[in-house]
Amino acid sequence: MLANLLIETAGGRIVAVTPDVAAPPVAATVLRGITLPGLANTHSHAFHRALRGRTQAGRGTFWSWRDQMYRIADRLTPESYFALARAVYAEMALAGITCVGEFHYLHHGPGGSPYADPNAMGAALVTAAAEAGVRITLLDTCYLTGGIDRALEGPQLRFGDGDADGWAQRVSFLDLPEHARMGAAIHSVRAVPPDQMGPVVDWAAHRAAPLHVHLSEQRAENAACLAAYRRTPSALLAEAGALGPLATAVHATHLTGDDIALLGASAAAVCMCPTTERDLADGIGPARRLADAGCPITLGSDSQAVIDLFEEARAVELDERLRTEQRGHWPAGDLLRAATSAGHAALGWPEAGWLAQGALADFVTVALDTPRLAGTRRATAAESVVFAATAADVRHLVVGGREVVRDGIHLLVGDVAAAYETALEEVLPE
Ligand SMILES: [Zn+2]
Repeated sequence: MLANLLIETAGGRIVAVTPDVAAPPVAATVLRGITLPGLANTHSHAFHRALRGRTQAGRGTFWSWRDQMYRIADRLTPESYFALARAVYAEMALAGITCVGEFHYLHHGPGGSPYADPNAMGAALVTAAAEAGVRITLLDTCYLTGGIDRALEGPQLRFGDGDADGWAQRVSFLDLPEHARMGAAIHSVRAVPPDQMGPVVDWAAHRAAPLHVHLSEQRAENAACLAAYRRTPSALLAEAGALGPLATAVHATHLTGDDIALLGASAAAVCMCPTTERDLADGIGPARRLADAGCPITLGSDSQAVIDLFEEARAVELDERLRTEQRGHWPAGDLLRAATSAGHAALGWPEAGWLAQGALADFVTVALDTPRLAGTRRATAAESVVFAATAADVRHLVVGGREVVRDGIHLLVGDVAAAYETALEEVLPE
């Protein structure tokens, strides 16, 4: 941890980083606290934010939660999704997130009827990110079946493109501005049959774009995959060529030893979403074993039950403690790398997530004069941030050299709670 750091930016990039500066230059903005590279939220479904706090009464399962999620999905239009996502991404900015990976499959209108612009929903997300001042990787998701050997039905109809070639054709019409990049996603082995994975894999490989996939989040998914294909989801994806250094497996909760070896050998990243996995009673993924096998670990807010990457980061360690009854699996520095450079790399922004000359000028300042972090000392500052900070301790955010959050206020959106109230009025059923 360096002290009295001067970060100089020009043209959206960091041009110099100088430690131990005696006094800041007159024109400098003073960022009091700990300044980290911007955080990367590697796995987001923006619209799930509408479910926050509304799925907790009674017991329910992952699958009953999914039914509630579908009811929200059914109501969204490009206009209402823009308003909701703008608030979600603004909340992310307030939490220190400078780049989001949006795993996007709400492609068409209700019932699958196409909008005049076949990418109207994705474009709404890209514009929402611009208005919230954050970068976005639009992980446009191929979603073809409602389950193995089951057609899409009801609310799922708007996710589909017919087949993978239809997906590739639609995606080819997307033209993204500077703050946005493209990635591809295979929703899961439930939603894309193996003979349809090829075009998505080829599309991503051809562009050296990220390729993300939900992997083995639920035991039922593994059982159905084994019954249909006599392979685990990891093995099926490996055979389809979907695993490699540009791939990210999301969740990777229920894996065999062979699955872990396959993923590690491919150097695919793994995105852990501990607050969502907790919320949905998914289980605890083998993050330590995956990292030891060769997988970079990244973090995602996924269902937006919580938007706080500090909480996600410490959960990777704390969940492992609960499982093993032992402490000390993850140094704080490794968890910060998961939240910053590893996450950005998995989203196709390898030049972000660093405080170094030439990197994108994306950084976040965590205040130390808060009840949670008062008393932080430099020697253990990384541990304090990872194990004690919350999103509420984020004070400043800079993206591409531009201030987005100052003194805890979102400079572009203003009152984010009010933005949510307006947006949610449109999409909540009552
Ligand atoms: Zn997800």
